[in-house]
Amino acid sequence: MKQNDKSGISIKWRMLVYIGAFTLFMLLLVWVFQVLLLGRFYESTKLSELNAAADEISENIDDEEALSALALKYATEYQMYIRIFATENGVSEQIVSGQVFGSFFIRTANDKELSRLTDLAASSSGKTYFERRTVRENYPEFDDAENKGKGEDRKEMICVRIVSGKECDYVVMLNIIYTPLGATVTTLMKQFSWICLVLLGGALILAAVMSKWVSQPLIKMNEEAKKLGKGDFDVSFPRDGYLETRELADTLNFAAGELARTEDLKKELIANLSHDLRTPLTMITGYGEVIRDIPGENTPENIQVIIDESTHLSELVNDLLDLSKIQSGNVKYEYEIFDLTESVRSTLGRYKKFKEHDGFDISFEAEENIFVSADRVRILQVVCNLINNAINYSGDSREIRVVQTSVANGRVRVSVSDRGEGIPPEALPDIWDRYYKVDRIHKRATVGTGLGLSIVKGILEGHGASYGVESKVGHGSTFWFEMPMCSKK
Ligand code: ADP
Repeated sequence: MKQNDKSGISIKWRMLVYIGAFTLFMLLLVWVFQVLLLGRFYESTKLSELNAAADEISENIDDEEALSALALKYATEYQMYIRIFATENGVSEQIVSGQVFGSFFIRTANDKELSRLTDLAASSSGKTYFERRTVRENYPEFDDAENKGKGEDRKEMICVRIVSGKECDYVVMLNIIYTPLGATVTTLMKQFSWICLVLLGGALILAAVMSKWVSQPLIKMNEEAKKLGKGDFDVSFPRDGYLETRELADTLNFAAGELARTEDLKKELIANLSHDLRTPLTMITGYGEVIRDIPGENTPENIQVIIDESTHLSELVNDLLDLSKIQSGNVKYEYEIFDLTESVRSTLGRYKKFKEHDGFDISFEAEENIFVSADRVRILQVVCNLINNAINYSGDSREIRVVQTSVANGRVRVSVSDRGEGIPPEALPDIWDRYYKVDRIHKRATVGTGLGLSIVKGILEGHGASYGVESKVGHGSTFWFEMPMCSKK
């Protein structure tokens, strides 16, 4: 694992690049539309004004009164100069002329120029011709003191359209003068440079602030995680920042808690295991030496102790092997359909000696015989482990009830109840863990090996069965499991 991999780009630089790129893109967009294309937009607006006027005039071409009104309207509203000629048999006669002052080309142009425009319109598509001119270029005589400096900037646009009327053809001429936006664009460019500077500076600050805000909780968490990695479980991930980091902190705090718990259990497991292994071994060695060294000690009782301790030792080792197989997922369950009721009943027969010698009252209740599909040997191991615990913890009452009932959704429930010491509520979630003891001082298990419930849990989870426990201190416990019933083979 690389501990100090600094090759990636930090969040600060990443944000700076993203925010900077976004800002530049926005600036480019504004520059293109507000600066580069402004003049063209302006001209196209003028062009469409001329077009709209030409369209309206074309619609009213045979109504001379309406035409005069339109010429007046466009003169006042758009400063547009309009001339309309009626042409009949090659003779043109002006019927309307605009009422607006200004050095319009079509006002002062000679007949030759006007007929040039008319010819160009006649040969254009849609019989409409547009022309752009510079005022000064064409009207040097207007470049007097009053217009000096303006003429060279000002531009004009002319639209000439040939319209067919009912009785004759008409030539409609429209002329507009406008000031190009050169000066405005220069001003905008200056403004734009300032805006660029301010926005890029702002982006820099924003990136710095945001990256700090985003990365700070992660940096703190990383510090804690490093401690955790070194085996220090006493860490607390700070719940700072935003929703995601808080959730991450919660998850890591939970994980750290679980790791600490597992570590404790591991230590306890090793301590308990060595204790449980050492006790029988010490007894076996001790009794063996006594039998060897002291004449007359070779009694059946002493040998029985050695046999009992060896049996316990092999049970413990078997359980350990079983548990490690179950927990590593290496165990293969041999599924078969079998009579659960009958199997439990015959298993209970094995506890006859407890009934007879120790006065245990072990009862079994079942309404009907129920079949299940499961690994028979393993399920009976679960039942035995639960009964062993009930015997171990039943206290003075010595009363154990095994009950089999059918529950909802076609499932069968088997429960084992005792009226013993019970389990405190805070210990309930932990009893299924390997070697967990309610009383933390480890007592050597009298019947079980201290691994019983972990094996029960492993087998039931392996079968997909549900399980649980209800318990009240001083009143006893009921351990249960549920699995689907199936029809008889
Ligand atoms: P053990 O061999 O110690 O019984 P288990 O894994 O079978 O190991 O059980 C774990 C712990 O759960 C026990 O040490 C005991 O504290 C508690 N426990 C299990 N069954 C019962 C029960 N029927 N009544 C009270 N406590 C129980």
